[in-house]
Amino acid sequence: MIPPRKPFRQACNQCGWKSPIIQNSDCIIGYYECCPKCGGKLEFKDLNKFEVAIQYLKQAL
Ligand SMILES: [Zn+2]
Repeated sequence: MIPPRKPFRQACNQCGWKSPIIQNSDCIIGYYECCPKCGGKLEFKDLNKFEVAIQYLKQAL
Protein backbone atom coordinates (compact mmCIF):
# COMPACT_ATOMS: atom_id res chain seq x y z
CA MET A 1 0.00 0.00 0.00
CA ILE A 2 1.29 3.44 -0.96
CA PRO A 3 1.20 5.88 1.98
CA PRO A 4 -0.84 9.02 1.39
CA ARG A 5 1.04 12.19 0.52
CA LYS A 6 1.36 15.07 2.88
CA PRO A 7 -1.99 16.77 3.45
CA PHE A 8 -2.38 20.52 3.14
CA ARG A 9 -4.79 23.13 4.32
CA GLN A 10 -5.95 25.79 1.93
CA ALA A 11 -7.10 29.12 3.29
CA CYS A 12 -8.45 32.31 1.75
CA ASN A 13 -6.78 35.55 2.75
CA GLN A 14 -9.80 37.64 1.83
CA CYS A 15 -12.79 36.01 3.57
CA GLY A 16 -11.11 33.52 5.91
CA TRP A 17 -12.55 30.42 4.21
CA LYS A 18 -10.44 27.31 4.79
CA SER A 19 -10.50 23.62 3.97
CA PRO A 20 -8.13 20.68 4.20
CA ILE A 21 -6.78 18.88 1.13
CA ILE A 22 -6.06 15.18 1.45
CA GLN A 23 -3.95 13.57 -1.26
CA ASN A 24 -4.48 9.84 -1.53
CA SER A 25 -2.39 7.62 -3.79
CA ASP A 26 -4.55 8.38 -6.82
CA CYS A 27 -6.86 11.27 -5.98
CA ILE A 28 -7.00 14.63 -4.26
CA ILE A 29 -9.94 15.35 -1.96
CA GLY A 30 -11.11 18.87 -1.28
CA TYR A 31 -8.93 20.79 -3.71
CA TYR A 32 -10.09 24.18 -5.03
CA GLU A 33 -8.45 26.34 -7.68
CA CYS A 34 -9.65 29.47 -5.91
CA CYS A 35 -11.87 30.35 -2.96
CA PRO A 36 -15.41 28.90 -3.47
CA LYS A 37 -16.83 31.69 -1.35
CA CYS A 38 -15.32 34.87 -2.79
CA GLY A 39 -13.07 33.68 -5.64
CA GLY A 40 -9.97 34.99 -3.91
CA LYS A 41 -6.50 33.49 -3.93
CA LEU A 42 -5.88 30.52 -1.65
CA GLU A 43 -2.84 29.95 0.51
CA PHE A 44 -1.56 26.45 1.14
CA LYS A 45 -0.27 25.32 4.49
CA ASP A 46 0.74 22.02 6.03
CA LEU A 47 -1.69 20.41 8.43
CA ASN A 48 -0.37 19.48 11.84
CA LYS A 49 -0.52 15.87 13.00
CA PHE A 50 -3.67 16.38 15.01
CA GLU A 51 -5.56 17.91 12.08
CA VAL A 52 -4.37 15.11 9.80
CA ALA A 53 -5.70 12.48 12.22
CA ILE A 54 -9.09 14.19 12.31
CA GLN A 55 -9.32 14.27 8.52
CA TYR A 56 -8.57 10.57 8.22
CA LEU A 57 -11.12 9.76 10.89
CA LYS A 58 -13.75 11.78 9.03
CA GLN A 59 -13.03 9.83 5.84
CA ALA A 60 -13.31 6.53 7.66
CA LEU A 61 -16.73 7.32 9.13
ZN1 LIG B 1 -12.53 33.81 0.07
